[in-house]
Order: sequence, then C-alpha cells, then structure tokens
Amino acid sequence: MAYPRLVLKRGRERWLLKGHPWVFRVAVDSHPGNASPGEIVDVLDKGGRFVGRGYYNPGSSIPVRVLTRDPDQVVDYPFIRGRIHQAAEVRRRGLDLGQTTGYRVVHSENDFLPGLIVDRYGDFLVVQIHTLGMEGHKGWVVDALNEVLAPRGIYERSNVGGRQGEGLETMPVGALCGDPPPDRVAIREHGVRFWCDIREGQKTGFFLDQRENRLGVRYGAAGKAVLNCFSYSGGFSVYAALGGATCVESVDASAPALELARQNLDLNGVDVGAHPCVEANVFDHLKTAKQVYDLVVIDPPAFAKSRASLKRAVRAYGRLNRMAMEVTRPGGLLVSASCSPAVDYVAFLEVLKGAAAEAGRNVQVVRSHLQSVDHPTLLAFPEGQYLKCFFCVVD
Ligand code: SAH
Repeated sequence: MAYPRLVLKRGRERWLLKGHPWVFRVAVDSHPGNASPGEIVDVLDKGGRFVGRGYYNPGSSIPVRVLTRDPDQVVDYPFIRGRIHQAAEVRRRGLDLGQTTGYRVVHSENDFLPGLIVDRYGDFLVVQIHTLGMEGHKGWVVDALNEVLAPRGIYERSNVGGRQGEGLETMPVGALCGDPPPDRVAIREHGVRFWCDIREGQKTGFFLDQRENRLGVRYGAAGKAVLNCFSYSGGFSVYAALGGATCVESVDASAPALELARQNLDLNGVDVGAHPCVEANVFDHLKTAKQVYDLVVIDPPAFAKSRASLKRAVRAYGRLNRMAMEVTRPGGLLVSASCSPAVDYVAFLEVLKGAAAEAGRNVQVVRSHLQSVDHPTLLAFPEGQYLKCFFCVVD
C-alpha cells in the first residue's frame, strides 16, 4: 500500500532513526500535497529513504507521530490490535495481576501508540486521547481493546490539555461502550484495596505510577509517625497505615480527595479516627507544623509543566523539600517525588542537595525509583520519563 509522503529537511532524520517518534514542524521540508489531517503518511529523508510511518496533522507543532519504522507494516486494525496486545503482554509479565487490578495498559508513545493512554480499573478501561491522529483511530482502538482485554465497559476521559493545539475542539468524557462505570470502582494494588473515581477523579482516577514507591513506604512505616503531603485519595497513607504506622496524617487541598482517602483507609480495615485527614495548603501546613515526623512523603503535582516554568518550579521544589526536611526527625525518612518532565533525574537530585544544604541536614539517598513498570519509558523518547522518587534518610 502506498501512503502519501512527507519529506524531511536534510539531517532531520537523525533522531527518528534512533527511534524518537516525533517529526517537528521545523524539520519538514515538504508536506504531502494529498494527505488530510489524521491520515497515515510515510516520512522520508531528503534523499528519499523511508524513515517511518505515522499519522499526519499539518496543524500541529508535531505534524507526524510515528507508529512504525517498518516499511512493510500496514497501519490497519490488526496493527492497532497487535500494539495493544503487545502492551498488555508487558504488563502481564511485569505485574502480579492477581494482586494488582489497577494499572496502565497503554502509555502512549512509550508503547508505540502515540497520543493514547489506556488505564485499567478492575473490569473497566479508561481511554484518554491526546491527538487528532489517534482520535481518527478511536473506533479501531475501542474494538481492539474489547477484543484483547474484554472489559465490562470503556469510559473516555479525553478532557486533557493539548487537544486544542492538535485542532481538536471537543474534550469528550463519557461511556464509549459497554456498561457505564459506577461512581466508585474498586481496585487492588499489591493486594491493597482502593476506591477510584474514574469519572471525575484526578488523572484517570488514581496515581497508578506511584505503585512501587507506595510499597517502599509500607516497608518503612512500622511504629512511625507519618506525614503524607499531597495525599490525594490516600495512596501512600493506606500503605503506611497497613505497614504499622502509629499515626498517618494526610494533607491535601482537595476535600473530595480527602473524603476518598478516608474511605480508602476504611476499605482496608484501618481505624480512620486514628489517622487524621487534613484539608490544607501543604506549604502552610509545613510552615506551622508543631511536631516532627519519622517519615514524610512529598508527592506534589507537576510544578513545571513545561521548560518555560522550569526556574520557578525548581525554586518551589527546593523550598518544599527544605521545609519537609525541617519536619523530619533526625534519622527519619523523607520520600520525595517530582512528576515534572522538565525537571530530570539529575536536576531533581540537585534540588534535594540544595534543600539539604539550606536545612543544614546530611541526607543519604537509600532508594530511588522512576515511574512503575506499567509506565515504561521508550529509551529514544526522553519526554516519556517524568516521575522521579527518592527515599532519603535525613540526619
Ligand atoms: N500522592 C498522591 C498523588 C498526589 S497528586 C497519590 O499517591 O495518589 C497531587 C495532589 O496535591 C492533589 O490531590 C491535589 O489536590 C493536591 N494539591 C495540589 N496543590 C496543593 C497544595 N498547595 N497543598 C495541598 N494539596 C495540594
């Protein structure tokens, strides 16, 4: 099958040949005259050599996102089904699906399906479509998800930023097929139970990417006084309580998130009365804290959504971590995460180093994690790596 052809400027094939899936607008020498938005096109280098095949959106700053680098591969329904099957296999190998029923099935570019996120919550799937090219393939995606994963229902949460830049005017939310999900869907994670609000909760309902870090907190919690900052629905809090923490204080600015946190503690047989859920701004809470804690978790929202906000974000991370160290008992543990893609691993370590110096504390990193196994990072695509989490002994 012959696809319309887009030709790159000289030398602009370099990253694509290494497996990076994006063709930036500035790299385009000539657009295909005969391709409409969303259509599959071939990308050629200036010398006419095949580089990749992907979907086309001339209105985007990324006019092509590559789906395959194999010139013999046709982009049809079996192709999409094959990609989804391959992604599901990675999870089957990497997770104990008997004990973990909430996990990411498709992590967009990192699973060779640019613009597509699919999360599993028990019997339900949540789909998020970020790009016009993937929007055009939604029918195949839904059919393939039904064929490969046989969910009870598929729910769409495409109310995401970035769609406008792709020329998509709508932000669809709602049932795509099968049963609509209930207000709360129960999942298990390492056997720990959580209610998730997949209709209105943050992300697609739960922060699935912190799974391994939550397990780390469980191991370190016995007999400890724990402060969980930016607790959302209590992910880290429940693990800490189950790990034997004497008291877990959860702090978040969102009342509905804290209500869900209480329900999640209760769902796991934890005495909610013994573990306060506090509605507050974390910065204020840390500033006025009247006690020190044995274990402090800091998992804020992304302060740097882009490179432009990097400087301010680095300062905010520094201040937050300095304050967190100040309320950590000498010899206690600080678990500090950043989900800003623009603040990379090394930069975040620098932030922690600066915070330790300002707080006048000696800090040892004893464990470090990136996002969990169901959020793989394609090596050629550093943009896919966003979560860093360091476990630090603060002396
Ligand atoms: N640690 C959580 C995820 C945190 S998401 C988990 O494992 O599930 C970030 C949370 O920070 C959100 O729930 C949001 O409501 C909260 N938040 C954002 N800014 C805040 C602030 N300044 N003070 C308190 N909470 C804040």
